[in-house]
Amino acid sequence: MMSETLLYSGKAKDLFSTDDPEVLKMIYKDQATALNGKRKEQITGKGEVNYEISKLIFAYLSQQGIETHLIKNVSETEQLVKKVTIIPLEVVLRNVVAGSFARKFGQPLGQRLEQPIIEYYYKNDALDDPAINISQATALKLVTPTEVATIEAMTKQINTLLIKLFNEIGIDLIDFKLEFGRYQGRLILADEFSPDNCRLWDQKTHSSLDKDVFRQNKGDLVTVYETVLQRLTKMIGGFANV
Ligand code: UDP
Repeated sequence: MMSETLLYSGKAKDLFSTDDPEVLKMIYKDQATALNGKRKEQITGKGEVNYEISKLIFAYLSQQGIETHLIKNVSETEQLVKKVTIIPLEVVLRNVVAGSFARKFGQPLGQRLEQPIIEYYYKNDALDDPAINISQATALKLVTPTEVATIEAMTKQINTLLIKLFNEIGIDLIDFKLEFGRYQGRLILADEFSPDNCRLWDQKTHSSLDKDVFRQNKGDLVTVYETVLQRLTKMIGGFANV
């Protein structure tokens, strides 16, 4: 008998305890949010397609030497993951101008950046996830300087791997958000990687294959996410059986 208690209910996933104190169960939900949760919709099939995409990407990254929290895939929406202490920072990397960067700095949408930019946001719903810099984050003891160095190096390495992967399936990786956790003295990749947390532009049509479809009411989210999943499956489906 598994003793499962809901530990945390997020916007897109729920986390449950398991019999093993070192292991949690993560369930992907059929829910989409925008405007930091102020707009919320049930979307049938979203949990499953995000689960499938994240599973493939994490399996691929892990095969490429990036340690992740993923232990095992259980069912269509459930994964067992290592229990980590989440660093309360959203780590955003941008290759191309889009979203809040375009708005905030009045930059042209779609302009490629000479070097990837890394930004940090403090994970705090009550404060609406404010932007934070490293000097603030270390002063607040959210993260240590050594951890910051590791986070930056891992984020850039993940970017290089994923730019290459998406390029092979005709997709430009515009930007993405990662979360890291402390695990047995190391930092490992946690949370998920799905079109909910990144921008993917089709190289031929330049259309969005990500959550901007929902944010901007540009089409059916599940159909669009399934396109990404199909292309990824053709490319790296073999890594899925972890
Ligand atoms: N992002 C995310 N969670 C957030 C905010 C942003 O996953 O709470 C992702 C978003 O999907 C995009 C990248 O981080 O891929 C950069 O987002 P941006 O700052 O442009 O925010 P937006 O205003 O578009 O949400």
